[in-house]
Amino acid sequence: MSCPSAGKAVGSGEGLIHSTGLQKPSSFQLDQLRRRRCVPAELFFLLRSQPVAKMPRVTVTRRLRFNAAHRVFNPAFSDAQNEATFGKCNNPNWHGHNYVLEVSVEGDIDEATGYVLDLARLRDIAEARIIDKVDHKNFNLDVAFMKGIIPTAENIVVQFWRILEPAVAPARLTKLVLRETENNYVEYTGN
Ligand SMILES: [Zn+2]
Repeated sequence: MSCPSAGKAVGSGEGLIHSTGLQKPSSFQLDQLRRRRCVPAELFFLLRSQPVAKMPRVTVTRRLRFNAAHRVFNPAFSDAQNEATFGKCNNPNWHGHNYVLEVSVEGDIDEATGYVLDLARLRDIAEARIIDKVDHKNFNLDVAFMKGIIPTAENIVVQFWRILEPAVAPARLTKLVLRETENNYVEYTGN
């Protein structure tokens, strides 16, 4: 099969660049050219190793706050087991926390806006899908997506992830931080 650069600088970098219109050739194009003996092996590996210019990807974070009540207990445990396992958090008459949720998403910077994702839009998404459903509510009694799940911060943050991940596309949800007290918080990255 003949070389696509039609005899001009066959086998040279000039010929290759000419043949590909000044664009970095794709792996497929390089394989094709190499099969046609247009590219010396040294140049082939040099071009394969050139870094491709990447769009800057940036992580942006929105913090939200809500208050909610819960009782952390396992209904399969005896009262003594629940007391021993969960201590104060097992209080049958509930207790509350001032939660802080941090939602981080990553994406390309939009050339038109300079944003990865408008943080006001991220706030609106998180408020509509999470905060409005849990603020001033009881995780054990009022929150449908926590039904049958022990409402530890760990379990809560995983449920939050499942709700938010599809909602922030095309940005990518990268991390949720849920602070239950000043000293205790959990992080989840979708693993
Ligand atoms: Zn608690």
